[in-house]
Amino acid sequence: MMARPMPYLDELNPAQREAVENLDGPVLMLAGAGTGKTKALTARIVHLLNMNKARPNEILAVTFTNKAAKEMKTRVGNMLGHQIEGMPWLGTFHAICVKLLRRHAELVGLKSNFTILDTDDQLRLLKQLVSAANIDDKRWPARQLASLIDGWKNRALTPERLPAADAGAYNHRGGELYAQYQVRLRELNACDFGDLLLHMVTIFQDHPDVLAQYQRWFRYILVDEYQDTNVAQYLWLRLLAQGHKNICCVGDDDQSIYGWRGAEVGNILRFETDFPGAHVVRLEQNYRSTKHILDAASNVIRGNENRLGKELWTASGDGEQVRLIGHWDGEEEARWVGEEIEGLFDGSSPIAKRREDVRTKKLYEEVDRLKDADALRGLNSIDQLIERLRENKSFLARENNKDLLWELASRREEGLSLEPSLKRHDYNKFGYDKIAILVRASHQMRAFEDRFLTIGLPYRVIGGPRFYERLEIRDAMAYFRVVVSPDDDLAFERIVNTPKRGLGNVAQQKIQNCARANGVSLVEGARILIEEKGIGGKGAKELAILLDGIDRWRAKGSAPIIEVALDDDAVIDDGATQQATRLQEGQPELGHVELAQVILDEAGYTAMWQNDKTPEAPGRLENLKELVKALESFDNLQGFLEHVSLVLDNASEDADEKVTIMTLHGAKGLEFPAVFLPGWEDGLFPSQRSMDENGLKGLEEERRLAYVGITRAEEICTISFAGNRRVFGQWQSQMPSRFIDELSEENVEVLTPPGLYGHQGGGSSGFSSGIEAKAAEANVYNSPGWKRMQARSGSYGMSQPKESKAAAIDLTAVSSFTVGDRVFHQKFGYGAVTDIEGDKLTVDFEKAGEKKVVARFVTSPDD
Ligand code: ATP
Ligand code: MG
Repeated sequence: MMARPMPYLDELNPAQREAVENLDGPVLMLAGAGTGKTKALTARIVHLLNMNKARPNEILAVTFTNKAAKEMKTRVGNMLGHQIEGMPWLGTFHAICVKLLRRHAELVGLKSNFTILDTDDQLRLLKQLVSAANIDDKRWPARQLASLIDGWKNRALTPERLPAADAGAYNHRGGELYAQYQVRLRELNACDFGDLLLHMVTIFQDHPDVLAQYQRWFRYILVDEYQDTNVAQYLWLRLLAQGHKNICCVGDDDQSIYGWRGAEVGNILRFETDFPGAHVVRLEQNYRSTKHILDAASNVIRGNENRLGKELWTASGDGEQVRLIGHWDGEEEARWVGEEIEGLFDGSSPIAKRREDVRTKKLYEEVDRLKDADALRGLNSIDQLIERLRENKSFLARENNKDLLWELASRREEGLSLEPSLKRHDYNKFGYDKIAILVRASHQMRAFEDRFLTIGLPYRVIGGPRFYERLEIRDAMAYFRVVVSPDDDLAFERIVNTPKRGLGNVAQQKIQNCARANGVSLVEGARILIEEKGIGGKGAKELAILLDGIDRWRAKGSAPIIEVALDDDAVIDDGATQQATRLQEGQPELGHVELAQVILDEAGYTAMWQNDKTPEAPGRLENLKELVKALESFDNLQGFLEHVSLVLDNASEDADEKVTIMTLHGAKGLEFPAVFLPGWEDGLFPSQRSMDENGLKGLEEERRLAYVGITRAEEICTISFAGNRRVFGQWQSQMPSRFIDELSEENVEVLTPPGLYGHQGGGSSGFSSGIEAKAAEANVYNSPGWKRMQARSGSYGMSQPKESKAAAIDLTAVSSFTVGDRVFHQKFGYGAVTDIEGDKLTVDFEKAGEKKVVARFVTSPDD
């Protein structure tokens, strides 16, 4: 057989090639951010296929998000360069486990059309159990039980295997309620998120035949972001890989950021013990970021004690320093980021202008080099061009501006000078899609969303299932769920009296009782109740209409089995012939998109909002439209519901250029030319919880998150903080993050906030009169005082937002206190100053005890 071309190998460095070409046996790639782990993993899939090691569907590749899976699929397709039959199993742990569990659901007492509960449903169910067990929900919140159960499931503990110490949690009832909860889930033919993995682990452990079947089936296993697997995922992988041991895991201990969700960084550290003789590959060249950015990140992560420690280097030049800027408050920060993004977009930001110089120079040099190579002659497609550039080891091959590349080629062809055309291409500009804002907490997003809506800046929010959390969307989906899964009691409870059908608590209780007495689902229970006339009046009539509706919708949406005539005649026993037929699935009466619309209309749900006079109603109707639209990209309602319950990331599909807003957690594995990291303040980032915790664990995880954040940036990384922040409606004064202190001076450019010295920060001219000059003068850059100065200057000179309550606080009081002064604080009351450090006071409050507070938030009682 002819060897296939393998250009993808040429794009790899020797270490990466080692990881790609050692196809058999265990391989561990342990390396820092941006070193090309994911790239190598993708190449490995392609190589497995090219070397005919496995058929596509015998390869199992696990990614951390759905988005990453999708990207990897596309890349594999592109890199292969030829058609393959079928696709590798490529997805998140959850997505893969749903598929498997549907095949074997009966082994854990479920039917294959089980529903996946979201956290809301889960909580509702637990509340019912808690209340039935006569436990005081106030003292023992159901939410607490929910997180215990999640934790157990992450650790692969079924109720039967729960250690006594755990079972005794939650007022000694934890184990018992966990068991009841699992029983109830089975009755509902449902499982929660954690069950997807737990059930599969249970099946593999209890049914060796099933396990053996998949061990044979999945001949090669690949796992990205291995540092964030939890125990259940780890067991699942180990069981599957036990036979052939063809498992390749890649990860970075410095990027382990899901400890709070049960991830065990230990999994990656013990890989070599689990798989003796594992081939361990380390990568050190970072291809993503410029040197200042990489060094800044490396310096921050060095603050962690518990790490393997690795050094990264980059060949892509010093680049820009990480920019640091303080603001008055969160709104001001959002305003500044908005302006800065516009400046990057139209090229007017000083940093964008500098970029033009570097890029243009590099381009000219490259074009000169290629001129001699005659590399750009006789091309007739952009792909050919890129291939040719690649052959010539040109960095232009990685350029994503196809117009420019093409123009470059044709000008070369015509013997024209390239220079004028290059200028036109605005190398100082950043498309919106090249820019991301990565926040620590999702409540930070609102300020950016509001600001961007105001100035008309296109953005998308990725990460939280925000859209699907909205009331009207959840209602609509409950309707779909009832139609798809008749046993889905939680969904039925949600919609039975929405819109109002005169089925209040009493009627609903009757339905519950009837269902329980007959051991059937609520829908069936309701049917029996009506037949037995156990309910009357308007409610009975409306309920009957709803039940008829459910039947009708289900019928309209299901594919009928039809008999199709075949061309050949079949010979039957007695020698006679007869028209041969085959049974096949016909077309349902309605496509699922129309069906969804019909359900919402006929159920009266659309009308409910049309008749609603509240200001939110029009928006809700818009959202419902969007929901129906979203269905178009799915084959059926069930697939859609599955997707939604799995939305780890609801990245919108549209290719429009938009700024991305997402959480740091969600950004793992991604990269953007320009990254904004707002809200670097103690209590927000690192989070309050991690600071309150004893020991380093929480704080170290936050620091890894900082490392993840900075290393997402290719060219521009901007860190900001605010002096004041409104969190859940309360104004709080903030101190800059301790992580800011951990950046080293030579990698950081301090920007002057606008309004402070009468000009927009950014250019180096800003420094001579700005903070940096002051900082240099006092040589306090790295001292604790420096960051406090940042905080102060950030809050002093800002144009003060009118609506800001904090702004109204008298600033003249700052640092005018001396030890011994009596002061008043709005929250803590009266006290005496015992220590002063910059603008931070230690106060011994009469009621609240000793606290550190920011000076501008206390007043002198005599004033
Ligand atoms: P992270 O830890 O953040 O997930 P990673 O190690 O998975 O990072 P990749 O995302 O695979 O890194 O690669 C980072 C960037 O470097 C990508 O843009 C990738 O295309 C590029 N890259 C990786 N390896 C090479 C290489 N050998 N030559 C050129 N570019 C490379
Ligand atoms: Mg990666």
